[in-house]
Amino acid sequence: MDRRSSETWYERARDVIPGGVNSPSRSFKAVGGGAPRFFVRGEGAYLYDVDGRRYIDYLAAFGPLILGHAHPKIAEALRAVAQEGTLLGTPTPYEVEFAERLREAIPELERIRLTNSGTEAVMTTIRLARAYTGRTKIVKFAGAYHGHFDQVLVAAGSGPATLGVPDAAGVPKETAQQVITVPYNDLETFRKAVERFGGDLAAVIVEPIIGNFGIVPPDAEFIHGVHALAKAAGALVIYDEVITAFRFRYGSVMPMLGTRADLVALGKIIGGGLPIGAYGGRAEIMELIAPLGPVYQAGTMAGNPASVRAGLALLDALQEPDVYPSLEAKAKRLAEGLGEIAERYGVPLRINRVGGVFSTHFIDRPVRNYADAEAAEGTLYAAFFHGMLERGVLLAPSKFEAWFMMLPHSDEDIDRTLAAAEDVMRAMMR
Ligand SMILES: *Cc1c(COP(=O)(O)O)cnc(C)c1O
Repeated sequence: MDRRSSETWYERARDVIPGGVNSPSRSFKAVGGGAPRFFVRGEGAYLYDVDGRRYIDYLAAFGPLILGHAHPKIAEALRAVAQEGTLLGTPTPYEVEFAERLREAIPELERIRLTNSGTEAVMTTIRLARAYTGRTKIVKFAGAYHGHFDQVLVAAGSGPATLGVPDAAGVPKETAQQVITVPYNDLETFRKAVERFGGDLAAVIVEPIIGNFGIVPPDAEFIHGVHALAKAAGALVIYDEVITAFRFRYGSVMPMLGTRADLVALGKIIGGGLPIGAYGGRAEIMELIAPLGPVYQAGTMAGNPASVRAGLALLDALQEPDVYPSLEAKAKRLAEGLGEIAERYGVPLRINRVGGVFSTHFIDRPVRNYADAEAAEGTLYAAFFHGMLERGVLLAPSKFEAWFMMLPHSDEDIDRTLAAAEDVMRAMMR
């Protein structure tokens, strides 16, 4: 392939693709603009750009990758599928086995449907909750990302616990008014929303550990309170585990939190690097889905052998011993190292870490909700991001994203990352 610089590719890209990217988070708009790097290849913990430069990758494709790039087991599964057909358009044994394996890992998923993206999975859980309860309104938490469909592109209205307003052009006001947006970790405002709208509430949708404005775990009182209030109001609890499932342990975060959601959406990791989503939950609710029941959801590509066989290979690899302790040990060493460097150079940095994932907010107070994350210094993050990129370390191009550890990240990679961070922070604070 023609190895031209990222700037040249960006110019060509912008001429044919809006903004030059197929997903807005890939642009460098949130870190001061300019041409994003264009990459041609990944291997293990590394990505290689169009100029042949190697980067240590902590973006991990915004969360889906955990085995690293081009893992041999995934490659083997894909070679088989390439020879036997990537899309059959009929039921296959692979999707049955995959759903069984997901249910073994997450017993709360009594029935499971596969989709092609997390967006579709979450969207369907909301439709199902509305059908099951015969109600319309939903509560979501500010700053949580649930995909790009209308009902979740809604911002808080004026005043706490009021009807929402569109958070993106093209979302009808009427749709936004079906959604109440409440600050995360704020049980009192959630209580107010339930008091005001309880009889109309179909569901509350929760990222059980926030992964989309950094990493923010829920307070125990908050998450248990959400379940109790939702249950008392007759509303379902939907967990959006598109980021969290299989990221912190083999399965859901529900056992970590001591909770049980009615419906759960999955995505990202479970496809082993291929497009996928899934949703599941109590059989009684799931059996409302067509062809058994009146709730429609479908997909030409859903459960395709390529995504599913990559997913099966992924689940095998994640069941090897020591996967999660190893991810956590890497993240702990890196996060602690970054914290020490920040302190040495007087950089205001809050690191929230859960297991093998952490976030770096340039702010001098705890980050517990979206308003805290918004208040973090975007210009400091942008300077840090570009400094790291110049030194061969790829982070997410937004102050709201996390660092994801992958199994192939080595001690040497972490040492090199810390050396780069020291260099960058020294220069930033000069
Ligand atoms: C990424 C993400 C989604 C959307 O998944 P897509 O596969 O990008 O459609 C939904 N919810 C959460 C929590 C996510 O992080």
